[in-house]
Amino acid sequence: MENLRKLILLFVVMIVCTAFIPGGRVSAASDTAGDSLKILGHASVKIKTSDGMVIYIDPFAGTDYADSADVLLVTHQHGDHNAVHLVKRKQSCVTITNAEAQVAGVYQHFAVGNITIDAVPAYNANHQKNSCVGYVLEFSDIRLYHAGDTGLIDEMSDLKDRHITHALLPMDGIYTMTPEEAVEAAVRMDPAHTIPIHTIPPPGTFSEAIVDRFTAPSKLVVRPGETIELISGSTAIEGESSLPRSFFLKQNYPNPFNPGTSIEFSIPEAGYTVLRVYDMLGKEAAVLVSERLGPGLHRAEFDGSRMQSGVYIVKLASSGRISSGRMLLLK
Ligand SMILES: [Zn+2]
Repeated sequence: MENLRKLILLFVVMIVCTAFIPGGRVSAASDTAGDSLKILGHASVKIKTSDGMVIYIDPFAGTDYADSADVLLVTHQHGDHNAVHLVKRKQSCVTITNAEAQVAGVYQHFAVGNITIDAVPAYNANHQKNSCVGYVLEFSDIRLYHAGDTGLIDEMSDLKDRHITHALLPMDGIYTMTPEEAVEAAVRMDPAHTIPIHTIPPPGTFSEAIVDRFTAPSKLVVRPGETIELISGSTAIEGESSLPRSFFLKQNYPNPFNPGTSIEFSIPEAGYTVLRVYDMLGKEAAVLVSERLGPGLHRAEFDGSRMQSGVYIVKLASSGRISSGRMLLLK
């Protein structure tokens, strides 16, 4: 009896602990958690929807392929996008590659459970139009665009009407867009958030230097191994019943800046929250927030008038979650 009680207690402790691992929240109770996006590295991502569906796109980088797939998407047949052997697939898994996504030049539409998937154009000098696609996924109130390996193309303007909440844009500047072209792409489609992917040719999986050059106001940096909760921009600030559940630190704006810039961030639940700025040597330069905050969007102002030009790191910590970004003070 005593042992049983200990066992039950241990079990409860385990559940409680899992709930507090940053990004691990969704795995324990997927029906209560929201939709989430994990960047595995390069162009590889894993999405979990609030009703428990697991979607992989362009498997290649990272190691977190443990969850069996309901949906597996491949944008084209290059080795840094089509490592499908990494993914365990449920028997019911729907696999869509560029071959299924574009049939005789016609971009296809798919529905899997509550997820709809539209193939859209993606091409450039390195990727023929008939052998590469991007995808627009809709689920819950999320509209996520994974661009595939594309250049800056006219068709991106067509995505504006779809009110994309999260655009994942490649920007290595060699096989895909330059970061400056990706800024123009973000202007054309006007998404709520733009997440840089495919920032460096393999074996690299992420380039800080490239991401620094990408300056779209919608920029949201999610580094390999990091998970964000997905919320649509429109439900974020309305009424108490639809409080945002998302944890993110937005790129400061303007950036580069002189001397002031503002930093927006969102926390999913009330909690003690700290927003600090460090210089490149890791020395603390400012504490912008250090208090208990309610859930939702918040904004802090950073004044660099007494500081030297250079790169500064801004770090957000709240309820065990951490996110950081870089800002450039140019005098
Ligand atoms: Zn590629």
